[in-house]
Amino acid sequence: MTNPTLSHKEVEYEQPQSELDGGPVCTTKQAWARVPVAPTTLERAALKDKIRRLLKEKNAVMVSHYYVHSDLQDLAEETGGLVSDSLEMARFGRDHAATTLLVCGVRFMGETAKILSPEKRVLMPDLDATCSLDLGCPADEFSAFCDAHPDRTVVVYANTSAAVKARADWLVTSSCALDIVKALKDQGHKILWAPDRHLGGYIQRETGADMVMWEGSCIVHDEFKSFELQELLREHPGAKVLVHPESPAAVVALADAVGSTSAILNAARQMDAKEFIVATDNGMMHKLRTLNPGKTFMEAPTSGNSATCKSCAHCPWMAMNGLADVARVLETGANEIQVDPALGLRAKLPIDRMLAFTAALKQGSVPKGLVAHIGAA
Ligand code: SF4
Repeated sequence: MTNPTLSHKEVEYEQPQSELDGGPVCTTKQAWARVPVAPTTLERAALKDKIRRLLKEKNAVMVSHYYVHSDLQDLAEETGGLVSDSLEMARFGRDHAATTLLVCGVRFMGETAKILSPEKRVLMPDLDATCSLDLGCPADEFSAFCDAHPDRTVVVYANTSAAVKARADWLVTSSCALDIVKALKDQGHKILWAPDRHLGGYIQRETGADMVMWEGSCIVHDEFKSFELQELLREHPGAKVLVHPESPAAVVALADAVGSTSAILNAARQMDAKEFIVATDNGMMHKLRTLNPGKTFMEAPTSGNSATCKSCAHCPWMAMNGLADVARVLETGANEIQVDPALGLRAKLPIDRMLAFTAALKQGSVPKGLVAHIGAA
């Protein structure tokens, strides 16, 4: 990343060493995130009006992730865009008629949108909004890891660079990872998984698949604490626990429901409980509370005796998305996502494969004859 010009905070993340270096060992590395300046009430209203007008003028649609500020979630919905998880964001952007996609989230989401829609202009409020999973999985080191396991089918999580996706056989998001790995396992594949070790471990436990893993982690979900969660549960014995599988195994073990952001929303809607403890980025609370007005949602603890609190349950890079930058990039066309066309074409293969698989699954069938390892680009 380039040097920040505004106030910023330091962020630590883990950089796994590949097993070629004698791993799995992680070293702690430094990154940064810009601290957004909150607009005043008057500025906020004016910026929202400006964004509504510019979206129409520029034939643009706004696609926001559940973890960005509630203003950006509400604006996306009220202007005909979408608030969702990364799988639905990718699908929606590809299928929408707008010629400009404004993606509020982190960089890999904008890159995925561009890979799927190379003919469209993809803008993001801040191109330096990254992700610890993406940072912790450099393409060259990951490629060496793949080379060391030529017999394995490479399955990577969406939270990766275009170059890492281009090395993959399959892309998955947390909403379809279990189904895809299970189908691959049932058809005899051995898996190389990257980059989130907690999600990978969860999938391995659930499917019994033979998996070797990249040892990355999300700085937000890695912080949830099982001991403190049990204490909170003792204070709220009727509460149900909803957990994103990027969380540590000890936290997942306490869950009443485990799944993607969309699965967490569904579970909250369907369960009878009045109280919920939620282990995912606290940006989710806006949607959970809006859709379930009679229910109470608490954040799962990230503090306590074992706390390091790198994130305090909110992603510093998701927090870089702000109203002022949305208006600015719509007006000026700045912050356009670029992906090398040849790289994009190669990275599109595993994404298309995932979208075809999930579409078939929606129709009630598990696709047969899953494509085996397709090797390096
Ligand atoms: S919440 Fe975690 S996985 Fe999501 S963008 Fe932030 S660091 Fe990445």
